[in-house]
Amino acid sequence: MITTFHSTRGLSEHLTSRQAIRQGLSTDGGLFVSDELGKEKIDVASLVGKTYQNMARTVLGTLLPDFSASELDECVKAAYSTQWLDEKITPLKPLGKDYILELFNGPTSAFKDVALQILPEFMARTVDKTSAGTNSNENVMVLTATSGDTGKAALAGFTGTQGTGITVFYPLGKVSEVQRLQMTTQKGANVNVCAIEGNFDDAQSAVKRIFADNSLAMKLRQDANVTLSSANSINVGRLVPQVVYYFSAYVQLVEQGAIGVGDNVEFIVPTGNFGDILAGYYAKKLGLPVGRLTVASDRNNVLFDFLTTGTYNRERPFFETTSPSMDILVSSNLERMLYYMSDGDTELISLLMADLRDKGSFTVPSALLENIKALFSCGWADEDQVNQAIAHCWSNNRYVIDPHTACGYHALQQANNETDMPRVLLSTASPYKFPRVVGKALGLECTGTDFDCMDALSQATDTVAPKNLRDLQHAEERFTDVIPIDEIGDYVLRASQRL
Ligand SMILES: *Cc1c(COP(=O)(O)O)cnc(C)c1O
Repeated sequence: MITTFHSTRGLSEHLTSRQAIRQGLSTDGGLFVSDELGKEKIDVASLVGKTYQNMARTVLGTLLPDFSASELDECVKAAYSTQWLDEKITPLKPLGKDYILELFNGPTSAFKDVALQILPEFMARTVDKTSAGTNSNENVMVLTATSGDTGKAALAGFTGTQGTGITVFYPLGKVSEVQRLQMTTQKGANVNVCAIEGNFDDAQSAVKRIFADNSLAMKLRQDANVTLSSANSINVGRLVPQVVYYFSAYVQLVEQGAIGVGDNVEFIVPTGNFGDILAGYYAKKLGLPVGRLTVASDRNNVLFDFLTTGTYNRERPFFETTSPSMDILVSSNLERMLYYMSDGDTELISLLMADLRDKGSFTVPSALLENIKALFSCGWADEDQVNQAIAHCWSNNRYVIDPHTACGYHALQQANNETDMPRVLLSTASPYKFPRVVGKALGLECTGTDFDCMDALSQATDTVAPKNLRDLQHAEERFTDVIPIDEIGDYVLRASQRL
């Protein structure tokens, strides 16, 4: 048993990667990390010419040491197959003199598919088959709070998975029409979708409280034989698959002749919960030449303020923007970056997180801030700038981007690129998930339904809406429940009893 995973806040528990994936979050509220990260480097040159699937086997093998090669092979085969529109899975394309990494060619047209197509495969292999007397009939209920994209990607990943249910909570009225329909039309017997009265942070906090609720846990075990797990990006199994596409991007740059192996590359990453960009940091620790990681935020620029001042302050107005998946005030995965950047100082992390909980803010020591700034840069875009970015990218590159990617595009335009490091913008969603915002930004008449907007966008840009999105117009809506925040515990119990 390779029990290298422990909490960012202490060393009392030691878990295997399997256990960490199954449990999701540590009992002390911290996130699971492994001090082995980066001790073994990946030979980047050996990846050139390899398929995405091959790179995934190598990278995942390093990050999940207690999965066997044949298990990972099965997981990778199931997750990265014909459900993707591009055989490269995450194709890299030129964008002016920069590059764009398309992460949205999966079954739900958002980058979260990269992780959520494979997480159910991991989860199915977390049941301990070796120890006698374990409760083999035990089911897992995966709980997810979503600001729009995670929910659908998790539903698509977990539908039909044996012994597993999935329950998704989304903030009522705060996701796009397409995003809502994607979730409420999900097929499958083991899926549940419910709107809550509140914003995404309320939903995420409520789900975190549920994980910490021991009496509910007991009831779930006794009444339904269910344990809870998480598909949010706090789960190790969500994070590690994302490390692969940083390697894939780099290898594609090499294959396109843009760089040689060893040259540094900058990644610009639209960021909310800090998962996507953290995966880039993990890639760097594994030996990928990452010269700079640029955090791009929307108007909820709490990370921009943190990276410029060293103070993280969540006591601030919350803005609902056209990039809902980045409308986040508590960026959970930042905790993992702080852990590694402070050389594993669990005491410091515990103090900072207690300050965040009790005072609403924390401040990191200045030496730590300097370390962080040496690698992480930042930018943010307000709504006008997002619209301008979408228009600018189209008129200059004939390439349509969604409002999340547009935050990154804006940061890219703003940065004075004094080095000649190649820059890769991560594109996190298909523009067709947000056809009204994108259409309007391009000056189109967008007054009808989201589907009218899709058609207008298609016509104006000579691009095609992904079938999974265009077909939603005629799909049957299955889930219409709306509940107050304080009823989600009961909802989870009822959903678990149906498993
Ligand atoms: C989730 C999401 C993000 C932010 O990713 P994090 O891992 O939360 O930083 C950005 N864009 C889109 C479209 C997303 O769905």
